[in-house]
Amino acid sequence: MILTVTLNPSIDRRYSVHGFDKGKIHRAKEFQYTPGGKGLNVTKVINIFGEEVFATGFLGGKSGEYIHDRFVDMGIMHEFIQIKEETRSCLAIISDDGIQTEILEEGPRITREELIKFYELYTYLINKSEIICISGSLPLGVPKDIYRDLIAIANRNNKIVILDTSGEALKYGIDAIPYMVKPNKEELENLLGIRLQTQGEIVKAGNYLIEKGIKIVIISLGNEGAIVLSEDQVYRINIPEVEAINPVGSGDSMVAGFAVAMKRNYDYDMMLKLGVACGIANAMEAETGKVEMNNVKRLMGEIKLSSIYY
Ligand code: ATP
Repeated sequence: MILTVTLNPSIDRRYSVHGFDKGKIHRAKEFQYTPGGKGLNVTKVINIFGEEVFATGFLGGKSGEYIHDRFVDMGIMHEFIQIKEETRSCLAIISDDGIQTEILEEGPRITREELIKFYELYTYLINKSEIICISGSLPLGVPKDIYRDLIAIANRNNKIVILDTSGEALKYGIDAIPYMVKPNKEELENLLGIRLQTQGEIVKAGNYLIEKGIKIVIISLGNEGAIVLSEDQVYRINIPEVEAINPVGSGDSMVAGFAVAMKRNYDYDMMLKLGVACGIANAMEAETGKVEMNNVKRLMGEIKLSSIYY
């Protein structure tokens, strides 16, 4: 099965309001609550493909119960360590003009006992998994280098790890050499502490990660597609123009597509096309972490991979 790790899940609360303005009272015309956090988005998209997926991490309080209940409704296998503090909520306020304002809670504090329990659960679960997707930020109380540990454990057990995070969590995670990383341009810039302006600079930055031993580095570029590096090839991935409704979670959907393709032993080019098509298909939906299978199939035929040489 595919294991997804979400240490800092959330309830994503989306409110559509008329002309959002600070200091004013707004009545939500529409609102929607969904389980969120990067790893949960990955989980939802893998589930849409009907692949066996198991979600783990930390959940607490009423918000934790809500996420648990939604996962039961969706028929998604999961086991989270129950924590004392409340799982966070992330607010997205969408104004009529399409402008989105986000308020992201930092998340609960994890105790030492809860952390130890998670390590035990994770070690047990990776034995049943082939591919492990580790995504998102860390809650308080969790060591900043935890992803390095989790990846090292997975590598020792010959499992494939896809890492999608940012900041220090990414820096430490990379040290353990995951199989694949998927930074967006900004995350890669922050990692290296430099601005990446040209395609050549992005490729050079990606190469730095390949030289460390990471097998596949995907640098996602929003509506401009992606650049992907492996040991012996660099591709520019050009994508068709679509009407994007909500691109939040497109990177997560991309990771889900890669994991599904790996699970199904697709060849390299097909894997890239499936992942990228999932990213685009997510941008076409209002709901985060949702793709329409018909869109994915059509988009796969429209994505162009072209080799770039440096
Ligand atoms: P998130 O953190 O919200 O999951 P991300 O920043 O990691 O996203 P992006 O680079 O925004 O990831 O998007 C991943 C992929 O999804 C892109 O490479 C592209 O294929 C697709 N995508 C993203 N935004 C759009 C868009 N507006 N239109 C079409 N495709 C998009």
